[in-house]
Amino acid sequence: MVAENRTSVLVAGGGMVGLSMAAFLSWHGVRCLLVERQPALTPHPRARGVNPRTMELLRALGLEERVRDTASSKALARNAGVIAVETLAGRQVGELRQYFMDHVTDLGELSPTGWCMCYQDELEPLLYERASELGAELLLDTELLSAEADDTGVTAVLRDRGRGAGRTVRADYLVAADGAGSETRARLGIGTHGPGSLGHFMNVAFEADLTEPLGSRRFIMCYVTGTGTRCALLPVNNRDRWMLHVMYRPGEEASFTERRCVELVRAAAGVPGLDVRVESVLPWHSAGLVADRFQDGRVFLAGDAAHVMPPTGAFGSNTGVQDAHNLAWKLAAVLRGEASPSLLATYDAERRPVADLTVAQAVLRHADRPRMAGQAPAAPDPAILPDEQVIFDYRYPAPAGGGDGREAGPGAPGTRAPHVPLVVGGAERSTLDLYARRPVLVAGPEGEAWRGAAARAAAGMGVPLDVHVLAATPDAPGPYDAHKSWCERHGVTPSGAVLVRPDGFVAWRAAAEPADPGAAVGDALAALLRPGLTEDAAGGPRLRPPTGSVTP
Ligand SMILES: Cc1cc2nc3c(=O)[nH]c(=O)nc-3n(C[C@H](O)[C@H](O)[C@H](O)COP(=O)(O)OP(=O)(O)OC[C@H]3O[C@@H](n4cnc5c(N)ncnc54)[C@H](O)[C@@H]3O)c2cc1C
Repeated sequence: MVAENRTSVLVAGGGMVGLSMAAFLSWHGVRCLLVERQPALTPHPRARGVNPRTMELLRALGLEERVRDTASSKALARNAGVIAVETLAGRQVGELRQYFMDHVTDLGELSPTGWCMCYQDELEPLLYERASELGAELLLDTELLSAEADDTGVTAVLRDRGRGAGRTVRADYLVAADGAGSETRARLGIGTHGPGSLGHFMNVAFEADLTEPLGSRRFIMCYVTGTGTRCALLPVNNRDRWMLHVMYRPGEEASFTERRCVELVRAAAGVPGLDVRVESVLPWHSAGLVADRFQDGRVFLAGDAAHVMPPTGAFGSNTGVQDAHNLAWKLAAVLRGEASPSLLATYDAERRPVADLTVAQAVLRHADRPRMAGQAPAAPDPAILPDEQVIFDYRYPAPAGGGDGREAGPGAPGTRAPHVPLVVGGAERSTLDLYARRPVLVAGPEGEAWRGAAARAAAGMGVPLDVHVLAATPDAPGPYDAHKSWCERHGVTPSGAVLVRPDGFVAWRAAAEPADPGAAVGDALAALLRPGLTEDAAGGPRLRPPTGSVTP
């Protein structure tokens, strides 16, 4: 052991989710150390569909433009739909135009951003760079060997694989983003549930000029039925960089020699003698599984460590990045003493049901795909929800006392705060741009009374709060129509207000200004930041009774 070290949050795993976790934590000002076993980030293009909700989070991190500027994102900006062919050069046998990008490309009503196809080997370095810029300590070639949690923190043993040196680190919390085979999950004895294994796939990344058999088609994925084995072609740049996913039986890994991969590519392309260069080959186990718990005391599971799902729907890495975003502000608020540790229990309560729902939807889409090639009934499974519903419409339980008695409709507590366009300093922005590191109270154009009352309530509790009153904010003059649309989309009147969490979810709303707006905001902040707990007369925690409606 060379040194005793301290950090606030130790993150195990430097994949998409661990890197996102490190970036979000540092963005919140939390000291964080990330360790990744591999000496480099993944060189293999794996996940690529970055959904609009994840793009909103990357936008908040200041990464939206950098992600859209990557080579894969620029090359695939207009790709849409999934097709099935005998071979790429041969007959097309099916086309799937629902559930995927083509019917949700116009997301202007829902989000200030949209889908982006950016391969993981380009996205991970951007997350690494941003986390590093924001102050995270990122150690490659370093593995977590063990972690013991106690009442006050976690003691972790790390190993620098290059030098073979060990090191003990003390952290307040550990986030295990150590992938589908999570050793942390296994060490904690946390089981999984779900449909289980769905197949083994070999991902072959290759270079070959497919411009001619491709023609003018620009798909997201192309199933190939004529090779005698279930496989699919995925474009990386629509020209000479591609992926071939090939299904195989466990034990057959060794048969994927370079020569066989070249033959498979030629067969899938339908071009004998095609010049093919295999870049990398990666086995991958597709499954639908969710961990039984996402938290064990001071240890949290995130990303594939918490849930795995087939790539149909491109939900996998997106769900993991959104786990990290959900957890980061909570850890930050607890570490700064602004929230009680009970807030951390909402991570499991909120994210596990989302994982269950999303895994179920990914598995349904996986089972539905043979329909495209006429190998299943013509009608889609009615249990399959539209993509935008899976991506945006999940709902967290409203904090006890945090609701206003109206549980349904847009702007209801527990739902993602809706996007409403704003003009700020002459530039087109979104209400989503108001939600960043602190809770935010947004009041309607007749809600001036909220401003001072809410600020005083927050200051009295020693918690941060940004307050925006739409009509009176010089930066957001906007036409009255925008305010009307803000009211409608949040289910409040012009004197009402909405309390939004730093992750952009509605914590509480008041349809109209109550008699004592300061008391209402104080109660709402307490319900948000100290869920289930409040201080009794003796200073000990007790269950907080629901306060019911605060609407006048
Ligand atoms: C071949 C392949 C293709 C995929 N295609 C898609 C797709 O098209 N769409 C989609 O949405 N999803 C896809 N996925 C899934 C998607 O890539 C994952 O959901 C996402 O990458 C999960 O990220 P993660 O960070 O949770 O886990 P991972 O990316 O698995 O990262 C975990 C990291 O933890 C590290 N690690 C493990 N143990 C330790 C330790 N003890 N100490 C330090 N580091 C450790 C590992 O080295 C690894 O880098 C694919 C996955 C694979 C493997």
